[in-house]
Amino acid sequence: MYGGKKVAISNEYLKGVYAQAEKRNPNEKEFLQAVSEVLESFEGVVAKRPDIVKSGIIDRIVEPERMITFRVSWVDDNGNVRVNRGYRVQFNSAIGPYKGGLRLHPSVNASIMKFLGFEQTFKNSLTGLPMGGAKGGSDFDPKGKSDGEVMRFCQSFMTELSKYIGPFTDVPAGDIGVGGREIGFMYGQYKRLRGTVDGVLTGKGLSYGGSLARTEATGYGLCYFTEEMLNDKGLSFKDKTVVISGSGNVAIYAVEKATQLGGKVVALSDSNGYIYDPNGINLPVVKQLKEVERKRISEYVKLVPGSIYTEGCRGIWTIKCDIALPCATQNELDGEAAEILIKNGVRAVAEGANMPSTPEAIELFLKNKVLFGPAKAANAGGVATSGLEMCQNSMRLSWTFEDVDAKLKEIMKNIYNNASAAAKEYGMEDNLVAGANIAGFMKVADAMMACGVAY
Ligand code: NDP
Repeated sequence: MYGGKKVAISNEYLKGVYAQAEKRNPNEKEFLQAVSEVLESFEGVVAKRPDIVKSGIIDRIVEPERMITFRVSWVDDNGNVRVNRGYRVQFNSAIGPYKGGLRLHPSVNASIMKFLGFEQTFKNSLTGLPMGGAKGGSDFDPKGKSDGEVMRFCQSFMTELSKYIGPFTDVPAGDIGVGGREIGFMYGQYKRLRGTVDGVLTGKGLSYGGSLARTEATGYGLCYFTEEMLNDKGLSFKDKTVVISGSGNVAIYAVEKATQLGGKVVALSDSNGYIYDPNGINLPVVKQLKEVERKRISEYVKLVPGSIYTEGCRGIWTIKCDIALPCATQNELDGEAAEILIKNGVRAVAEGANMPSTPEAIELFLKNKVLFGPAKAANAGGVATSGLEMCQNSMRLSWTFEDVDAKLKEIMKNIYNNASAAAKEYGMEDNLVAGANIAGFMKVADAMMACGVAY
């Protein structure tokens, strides 16, 4: 039972794979949730492709290639020695160098790192670019820390991580708690230690090898994907009411693009509560508060008349909307929230965050014919643009914003089409959860089979 839903695997082989994962990873509920969701999509694959079963691809794909944990010691502003734990899960390198973000949040643990690395493998494959799957981070909380403390932490973290990464082995990026400031500190330390300028991190600043449109990419890509999903059913963002959770990087640029596409975004949140603005979110105010001043979202109501703040972030899903885009964190939208959204007439839900909907919520959306865009497809725009940043670094070139944005749009369109086609081919039309899992998996499986059994 995960996220209010029973694990629904009927094939005996897949049941065995899941049982082994459960045995190997006891108490890792987020990781097992991600594995069960993927295995549930593979009944058709197992029936159609005995060669995949025979090669043990599915047994292998649920086990990370490598997982590194390390101590991160640093000194705070009062001279106290502080200790955190660092992680890098190098999940799968079948189709390219490991690639995936770094998360700095107190909730970070092995289960969360593994679920994110596992998901990343399929997501990166869906982009069509040659990138394997990885994830990393630490239980360090950047909130309330000075710039100096964040810098010392990042330098210490990179001192250890630098031993395991490189432009042809593993290329990390940002995630929760890791934005431009943290990437800069980590990149500086990597360069100092290795003496090479090789673009090893993505999400870099524009002055030292970053790509235009990387900051916007996940939020924009989410909206391009959602627009494609809506268009397929004769709908669009135009004149739709949109609710977006979170108020970080993904949420901010989802607000920007959803608004450009004609939607009206009326709510945003952080982990303390949510704002409702019936006139449509004033994005310059949000950018100033969150990107410049690093303040709480509650401050918005002091600056924008007519808006309301409510304590408790989960209440955001009680706001009536046509389109819901969860962009905060895992398991933020549960069965109860899904029922309210459905009752209020939601037409589409697309995941900007990783695994924000519980399995019970997803089941309800699919059962009630709500268009549902799963994270590994819908939020792949960030890593896709990281792939484009790697490309530009290798070529020693910088593309224009318009060039990168056009490539991003094309990639998101292809992801939608491939996921939708795979769902149809395997008899689950309109189920983009299954479609994305299968489409992402096939390329990785082919590469693993071609390379033989080595590890
Ligand atoms: P940020 O750190 O920039 O922002 C995270 C936001 O979510 C903050 O506003 C945070 O509020 C809020 N939040 C955290 N927990 C909760 C909660 N329980 N309820 C409501 N709000 C909450 O991270 P990103 O925007 O980069 O990442 C958001 C999600 O998107 C993550 O799941 C991440 O893995 C995923 N993602 C990010 C990509 C990227 O390119 N950045 C790419 C693909 C996926 P507070 O300040 O209170 O913590």
